[in-house]
Amino acid sequence: MITNGDVGGVHIKYLHHCRRQLWLYARGLRPEALSTTVQLGEAVHATSYRRASPIDLGSARLDDLDGELWVHEIKSSSRPSSADEAQAIHYCYRLRKVGVQAQGAVLHYPKTRRTRRLPYAEEWDQRAQDDIAAVLDTVAAPTAPERLRRSACRGCSYYDYCWSL
Ligand code: SF4
Repeated sequence: MITNGDVGGVHIKYLHHCRRQLWLYARGLRPEALSTTVQLGEAVHATSYRRASPIDLGSARLDDLDGELWVHEIKSSSRPSSADEAQAIHYCYRLRKVGVQAQGAVLHYPKTRRTRRLPYAEEWDQRAQDDIAAVLDTVAAPTAPERLRRSACRGCSYYDYCWSL
């Protein structure tokens, strides 16, 4: 089972999108490798931000950290989501834990040419800690959380698993 230090950006994203998705992912089910949605996301990454230098924090991998210590994340979706924000907060928290005073995050949405700048705020540390605790609680549950409403599952790589039973 994962521990606090293993919780990374994907866990946080799934926590905010669908706890069932997180639970399945933590058990090694990885249909996302075959998902066209994920492949599209990788293509957006590969073509949108060529000069970025990914930062590997172990479990968490940031797309880029600029010279003024802003985290940059490339998103394949068209619109900002609470999961994107939570992931950004998580990365800043992880960086600050290792002594890098991240100033906040800039989320890039190449499909719609939008960016969203989120300056670091005092309450972020608590939010990040609460999310990590929620991830660990969700993963430790003996059974999978309930499915979302079917309409919310569109594009999810676990769709067949959840809905073809
Ligand atoms: S298909 Fe729906 S219920 Fe299943 S993991 Fe994906 S979002 Fe969650």
